[in-house]
Amino acid sequence: MPLRAQVNPGNSKVLVVDDDESMRRLLSAWLTKAGYLVCEARDGSEALKRIKDECPDFLITDWEMPLLNGLDLCRQVREMDLPHYVYILFLSAKTSSEEMISALEQGADEFIRKPVYQGELMARIRAGKRLLEMERRLSQMARTDSLTGMLTQRSFFDSLEKEWIRSEKLQLPISCVMIDLDFFKRINDLHGHPAGDVVLKAVSQQMTKSAGASELLCRYGGEEFCIIMPETLETDAINWAERLRESLSEMPISVGDKTLRITASFGVSQRYPDTRSVSALIDQADQALLCAKRSGRDRVVGYESLRDAADVNWENDQQTELFRGVEARHVMSPVVLCLREMETVGQAAELFLRSRLNSTPVVDENGKLLGILSEKDLMAAMVSLDAWKLPISEVMKPNVITYEESTPIRTIYDFLCRVSIRRIVVVNDNCPVGTISRATLLRWFRNMVLSRGLMSEELLQSMGVNRSDGRSQERLLETAKQLAFHASKMHNYVESEEEDVVPYIVGEATGIQELVTDLLAYSRFVHHSAFAESDDCGMD
Ligand code: GH3
Ligand code: MG
Ligand code: MG
Ligand code: MG
Repeated sequence: MPLRAQVNPGNSKVLVVDDDESMRRLLSAWLTKAGYLVCEARDGSEALKRIKDECPDFLITDWEMPLLNGLDLCRQVREMDLPHYVYILFLSAKTSSEEMISALEQGADEFIRKPVYQGELMARIRAGKRLLEMERRLSQMARTDSLTGMLTQRSFFDSLEKEWIRSEKLQLPISCVMIDLDFFKRINDLHGHPAGDVVLKAVSQQMTKSAGASELLCRYGGEEFCIIMPETLETDAINWAERLRESLSEMPISVGDKTLRITASFGVSQRYPDTRSVSALIDQADQALLCAKRSGRDRVVGYESLRDAADVNWENDQQTELFRGVEARHVMSPVVLCLREMETVGQAAELFLRSRLNSTPVVDENGKLLGILSEKDLMAAMVSLDAWKLPISEVMKPNVITYEESTPIRTIYDFLCRVSIRRIVVVNDNCPVGTISRATLLRWFRNMVLSRGLMSEELLQSMGVNRSDGRSQERLLETAKQLAFHASKMHNYVESEEEDVVPYIVGEATGIQELVTDLLAYSRFVHHSAFAESDDCGMD
């Protein structure tokens, strides 16, 4: 855009400083008529105060004034740390070259001799305006990243500080979302760096589009982005991130004649009373992001869910060996029941109670996973009786952590140790096929250790299992009895007149599932057989 087109007085602020009231009035009248916003000061020290409070674009100052003269005012303004450049016009009855030079040396941009002519003053102001516009554009360029148009890290931190102080002072929530594109290096390697740039641009546009006006977006590093969301709780930031994650993963990106796809991982944090600085907030989002990466990418992890993290020590080779070759599908409890999105809170509660389930996946009409509904979600919703009629899609958690069936179990083990999320959903082509909870993993791990004979006699005894005294036989018997009990109950339900037996069947089947797993483990132990031989007899 040509600069001339930008010379428009609208909104430019001019501070007129003169001890002569008639002069101030005259200048103000000219400027106001030309569309400038004008304020006045009687001397240098009053001017300094006004400049601090509301930095003007132009300062027109007289030389001789009481308290602080124009020359000193000029020097002090140039020493101040102001949000933008102030264009200074000196207006003086002094006429010598030396005097003019000293005013310019102190920082004035223009020197106009009195008496001043309206036309000349206005023309000089317009010339100054062009310079200010140029300065504004240059600083804008320095503040923003040229590829994405987002803030650079440095200017991001400048803006953040203000938001942080405001949130602390007013006790408002503030959240941070860190985003890192998944396997971005591959895009560069396979399609070239310029293609990578096109992807970065498309991704950043999508982010900018989905962010609100108060959000601060920054290109944090190469393919990393950081977003600060003032007045936003972590749960809301997670929901926002989840929507963005989904839209990015579905977005086709045209590069030449190819269409590329990209996913991204997200870490989210919010300020807690013990979050000391904005850097700590970003660091926490970064930790959550790392967890999102390690646990499979293309997902959102909240820092809150990491707060009770347990550290797994993977140093031990024997432990690592235990997990080798085992995949999610070997360990998961198969999904026996899914709820449809349009079923109501009331219906779901009834089902949970009758089947003794504590959570189920929620699917659309094609069986694709939409979210997960737990007892907790129902409890929160049921307090209001109106909510009983709501479709469960409104109360379920859409942010489900999913893993493909073929995911190594160690990845999931690591994840569930790290986060306070209790359960993940195993999917096949985005249809839920199983779940793995912490309890599932504990059971699986215990049974595997037992079946492989890895426990010392002492440890076994302390667990009530003893190789020599036949008590493992007892365990088998006890478990088999329970199994028979569940099976006969299930049989009775099926034969009963009850119109809807499904919840009962589901409840019994869930119990049977676990007992069968135990039974297999105990029986392997009794026969000293290797786990490897029965690798395929899991739950799938
Ligand atoms: P991960 O899922 O673990 O994040 O894998 P990744 O490949 O995305 O991770 P890594 O951090 O190793 O790679 C980031 C790559 O981003 C490396 C660098 O070449 C590329 N990159 C950084 N800035 C730019 C850029 O401005 N343009 C392009 N085209 N590539 C960039
Ligand atoms: Mg004077
Ligand atoms: Mg990276
Ligand atoms: Mg990356």
